[in-house]
Amino acid sequence: MNFYQTPPVLKNQFKHDSFLQAYLQRKFPQSQFPEAHADLDRLGQSVVSEYLELSRKAESQPPIHVPYDAWGNRIDEITVSEAWKAFEAISAKEGLVAIGYARELQEHSRVYQFLKLFLFHPSSAMYTCPLAMTDGAARVLEEQPDFKASFDHLTSRDPSSFWTSGQWMTERSGGSDVSGTETVATRTQTSFTLSGVKWFTSATTSQMAMTLAKIEGQDKLSLFYVELRDHSGRLRNIQVNRLKQKLGTHALPTAELTLLGTPAKLVGEEGKGVKTIATLFNITRIYNACSAIALMRRGMALAFEYSKVRMAFGKKLIDHPLHSKTLADLQVRYEACFLLTFYAVELLGKSECKKISPQELATLRLLIPLVKLYTAKEGVAIASEVIEAFGGAGYIEDTGLPQILRDAQVLAIWEGTTNVLSLDAQRAIFKEKSLGGFLASVKDKTKNPQVLASIDTIVAKMTAADETQLNLHARELSFALIRVLGAALLEEHYSSQSSYAPHRFVELGLLSPAFFEHDPNGFQDYINGALT
Ligand SMILES: Cc1cc2nc3c(=O)[nH]c(=O)nc-3n(C[C@H](O)[C@H](O)[C@H](O)COP(=O)(O)OP(=O)(O)OC[C@H]3O[C@@H](n4cnc5c(N)ncnc54)[C@H](O)[C@@H]3O)c2cc1C
Repeated sequence: MNFYQTPPVLKNQFKHDSFLQAYLQRKFPQSQFPEAHADLDRLGQSVVSEYLELSRKAESQPPIHVPYDAWGNRIDEITVSEAWKAFEAISAKEGLVAIGYARELQEHSRVYQFLKLFLFHPSSAMYTCPLAMTDGAARVLEEQPDFKASFDHLTSRDPSSFWTSGQWMTERSGGSDVSGTETVATRTQTSFTLSGVKWFTSATTSQMAMTLAKIEGQDKLSLFYVELRDHSGRLRNIQVNRLKQKLGTHALPTAELTLLGTPAKLVGEEGKGVKTIATLFNITRIYNACSAIALMRRGMALAFEYSKVRMAFGKKLIDHPLHSKTLADLQVRYEACFLLTFYAVELLGKSECKKISPQELATLRLLIPLVKLYTAKEGVAIASEVIEAFGGAGYIEDTGLPQILRDAQVLAIWEGTTNVLSLDAQRAIFKEKSLGGFLASVKDKTKNPQVLASIDTIVAKMTAADETQLNLHARELSFALIRVLGAALLEEHYSSQSSYAPHRFVELGLLSPAFFEHDPNGFQDYINGALT
């Protein structure tokens, strides 16, 4: 007898998502945006049919580095699958970057664009990684008139002129700590050339990249623009050392590069590279959060469909209360992440259209690192639970499920790790004074006494802590702050604190930071003792 299990079948990911539809009803109603809704409906179907097929093909045909041609000439070609190439044209035609810059829907344009990215991401084999860097570069170059032609390429809807951009920040001497950058920019008569090693460069097939370097004789970093290839398609004094062999993101080419006098142009002022690039990170971190919620949603959709067909102990999984409660808790956590991410997207759209209030601006500043770190961590946790929800099938490669967990893991690392972003959140709080605005936004959305009490606890603990304590507890503070906002957004979404999701989110706990009460220095001896 053949043994078989019924695979879960995905439905239109736009139409068959009642939580998403309820969000749209509140924030992006069909009556106001009929064309966008029709477009999203179409995309919701494409991502479970043709794009899903392409992403499977891209995932199964990773990029290859060809260092030399048959005659011994160094060529450093990176060949990618036809499916990966197809995503470039698809991204242009779908306007996945362009929509955010055409601003036809004014401040709602970013919501529309990110809804598309949200649907697209799990069926893109991580093509959203180059798109994130492209969008980030476009945002920086939009404000630099000298780079108008490149900006037009990055925001084009025409596949023949659309460009993607890389972003080369990480060097062997540091990724989180870019001050360790060793790449040197040498002045030429008209511009600069760059020399150094870039240790992680994703999307190496892109037409351009943004990168940091120190101008000879200077300590501070400057931002540079590089076009990778000359008119004949040859790399411009760039050597590809190798492609990384990665846990996930298999279709995405990530290379180690050596720059050997690569022509480059300065972007912005000399020595102001870190400040100029901050604009780019705001965008890529929101993409990161969007990718995390997209993976959560895809995993949840699959697990839910599976629970309706898989039998255990004489009934469907969904009919086992413990299984369905497990899924319900995941859905609550996912919904909080979704609302947090799209709150950031809404505020981004408002800021770009100059329709943002000072309170909202402060909220956005602190929200960006927090939403990135929180959704990334929840993404990994939820992906892991999704795999378990399939039992043994979840661990089997050709179900496609392990890829969700692998690809979720990178979201906690690139664009800033959890610790590094927690420290950025502290900068936002103490140097840029964003906490008042952030907490005011939380209070505008909640009446829940537990959430309000948590805010008081957070503020009291922060006020009583010294700098060392704050640094030590940067993670706990980040998680507590983002969770109170998550609770408030759920309450706002459901128009009630006692509806299931907002109530359960608070019940799941951790709205206050767990500072050391007993032995603040004990962890040093404890960890040294445990590891030696
Ligand atoms: C698949 C993949 C693709 C990538 N693509 C790109 C790319 O295209 N371009 C690019 O520029 N980079 C890219 N990266 C690199 C990535 O951005 C960095 O790996 C990341 O920023 C972390 O830097 P690092 O590796 O130097 O880690 P480190 O900075 O060495 O960090 C190691 C650990 O130390 C912790 N840590 C560091 N500083 C502190 C501190 N002050 N306090 C407390 N804890 C701290 C971190 O949280 C982390 O856990 C990619 C990485 C991956 C995995």
